[in-house]
Amino acid sequence: MTKLAFFEGDFVPIEEAKISITTHTLHYGTGCFAGMRACWNESKQQMYLFRAQEHFQRMLNSARFLYCELPHSKGELESITIELLRREKFKENVYIRPIVYKDEGVFRVWLHDAKDKLAIFAIPAGGYLRNSEGISMCVSSWRRVDDTAIPARGKVNGSYVNSALAKSEAMLNGFDEAILLNQDGHVSEASAANFMIVRDGKLITPPTTANLLEGIVRRSILELATAELNIPIEEREIDRSELYIAEEAFFCGTGVGIASIGSIDHRTVGHGKRGEITAKLDDLYRKILIGEHDAYTHWLTPVYD
Ligand code: PMP
Repeated sequence: MTKLAFFEGDFVPIEEAKISITTHTLHYGTGCFAGMRACWNESKQQMYLFRAQEHFQRMLNSARFLYCELPHSKGELESITIELLRREKFKENVYIRPIVYKDEGVFRVWLHDAKDKLAIFAIPAGGYLRNSEGISMCVSSWRRVDDTAIPARGKVNGSYVNSALAKSEAMLNGFDEAILLNQDGHVSEASAANFMIVRDGKLITPPTTANLLEGIVRRSILELATAELNIPIEEREIDRSELYIAEEAFFCGTGVGIASIGSIDHRTVGHGKRGEITAKLDDLYRKILIGEHDAYTHWLTPVYD
């Protein structure tokens, strides 16, 4: 259970971490956030925070888009997060949500000159999707928000309306998840995860210029595929028609992990089950998260002394 939040510069009981209904970000979506994971390893009695510096760098990048001034460096943000997890005494997997918001009234829509505030809380992490095997996907009728409208490469609150529209449409039509195409009609990403396919034994994913979030798990997987599994990778545009002939497909992100896709627009992907490359990457990633892969401990920060 979540008991605490870092709020207005201090650790406070979660029920005291409240913002006013007049808050700018509530009305205009003018905030940004991070979504991080810390995993508990029972045999080591240790908890590991995954790639905190990369997450906070992306949050600071997102903050720049919004003219947010934060009085914290990446290092300080990581220390605050570790302190929060220690105070919570968590001994289970948790999802961590740092958020930057504009604590201003609503009679101005502009971003600059606003008071920016930071809050962080963590919640025990349940599964994001009902199943993470054989997920059914559809191509959304909604297009991914374009960089000329709201930068998708950062985690900007307001752009999640785009994700929410696509996700609800997919679910109400009986699918688990949506794939969004960008304005050019090429594959961008899922509602809250990046997307990869395997064709001819190559791992293929759209480039970060395709209006997608610069995902930390995405980057990690590309690194692992090359360094550990010797799988060729291609960062290139993906056509819609390639979705229907891919040997494997999965989406990946902090919340969902690596979720294999069973079908896209009612066409079975491969055998409809987790493919070989997806399985290898998933096994590797899970080991790394709990500190069971010595070559990647530099991606982790142990929470407890
Ligand atoms: N795309 C979107 C839109 C997301 O919300 C997420 C989840 N943060 C991702 C991709 C995956 O990013 P990451 O691997 O950094 O969690």
